[in-house]
Amino acid sequence: MTDPETFRRDTRSWLHANCPPEMREPVRDESDACWGGRDAVFKNSAQKQWMEVMAERGWTVPDWPTDYGGGGLSAAETKILRQEMARINARNPLYSFGISMLGPALLKYGTDEQKKRFLREIARGETRWCQGYSEPNAGSDLASVQTKCEDQGDHWLVNGQKVWTSYADQADWIFCLVRTDFKAPKHKGISFLLFDMASEGVSTKPILLISGRSPFCETFFDDVKVPKDQVVGEIGKGWDVAKYLLGHEREMISGMGLGGSGESLGAAFKDSLADDPLLRAEMAGFDVDAMAFRAMSERFIDELKAGHAHPAQPSMMKYAGTELNKARHELAMAAGGSGALEWESERSSGGKSAREWLRTKANSIEGGTSEIQLGIIAKHILQLPGA
Ligand SMILES: Cc1cc2nc3c(=O)[nH]c(=O)nc-3n(C[C@H](O)[C@H](O)[C@H](O)COP(=O)(O)OP(=O)(O)OC[C@H]3O[C@@H](n4cnc5c(N)ncnc54)[C@H](O)[C@@H]3O)c2cc1C
Repeated sequence: MTDPETFRRDTRSWLHANCPPEMREPVRDESDACWGGRDAVFKNSAQKQWMEVMAERGWTVPDWPTDYGGGGLSAAETKILRQEMARINARNPLYSFGISMLGPALLKYGTDEQKKRFLREIARGETRWCQGYSEPNAGSDLASVQTKCEDQGDHWLVNGQKVWTSYADQADWIFCLVRTDFKAPKHKGISFLLFDMASEGVSTKPILLISGRSPFCETFFDDVKVPKDQVVGEIGKGWDVAKYLLGHEREMISGMGLGGSGESLGAAFKDSLADDPLLRAEMAGFDVDAMAFRAMSERFIDELKAGHAHPAQPSMMKYAGTELNKARHELAMAAGGSGALEWESERSSGGKSAREWLRTKANSIEGGTSEIQLGIIAKHILQLPGA
């Protein structure tokens, strides 16, 4: 590693020269987040420029190897880059399930050919991925997946259904759990398959929510032909890949606990709290928990990057981070009074508080429910009898 102070100084001046001012604002709504993909939609030229200039430097994935589109930074350099980005409120240049979920799994289990083919496209924001894990009868009990994948000699043939597939209707490719062996014990007959969502036989049906939005889909596979070289890891050992990926997904989701701006709740609501001692006390308690979570999170990321994290640690972080985020929004709604319940108005921020508050209800479901995380902690960290 180069001298940390030199690296910090160079990074600071590079960010100063290359991060457009519009990208130094908090993400206010979904269109502020850049997801890339074949049909990428950019809110403005600054968003496109920011993604491209960061991708060019390998800094959409700073700690991935340069051969695969990354920046080749050490853990310490990556941390400095994150700190310097936070210092100027720089936005994440690219939101991507490819970066936060599939990438780490490919780095560990993919062949060199798969890494070169898929990771570079992910790093450049050229391919948008979705996650085909859950099925109508396989959510918490994920190893019960029934999507059938048959060996047809020169290709795989896939039939079945997934559900709750976030952004399936906007994704280019899917990483998918399929059953290649119906006779083996359920954890052993699963394989981890990648395929193009434009393949013949793939269709999606958005699930309309009460909020009027459709963030996820039912996804159907009807005689989908998939090339043989698109299995990641060994055939029948996809459960190992799936679990490893889930650890990274849970780490990503736990980041919600940090809150967007980093501002304390007490500071954000100081004017509306003056004559409500009970709410003030609750917010003070929350802010202490948030500081503790921030410290725990930093230690956890350091341990994870150094390869020292306990395999069940992401479950602990996911549980703590999502419960904290839910509590944050409950308190913000309490402080906002009846005005916070507003749903639709002329203001650009109309309905924001209420919609964000309702969205947090899903935090303790997505990526595995809080009950499932507690079960994993009881068994693998606390080693409680009977867990
Ligand atoms: C916003 C959001 C986005 C999502 N995106 C995706 C996606 O992109 N791809 C994807 O594949 N899936 C996605 N999911 C699905 C998600 O992974 C599942 O909803 C989750 O794993 C729970 O499964 P389930 O909905 O079938 O609930 P169930 O498994 O039916 O659980 C119902 C209830 O029973 C409890 N329960 C079940 N088993 C146990 C147990 N052993 N011990 C204690 N309690 C238990 C659960 O905690 C829960 O409260 C998403 C979900 C949400 C909310």
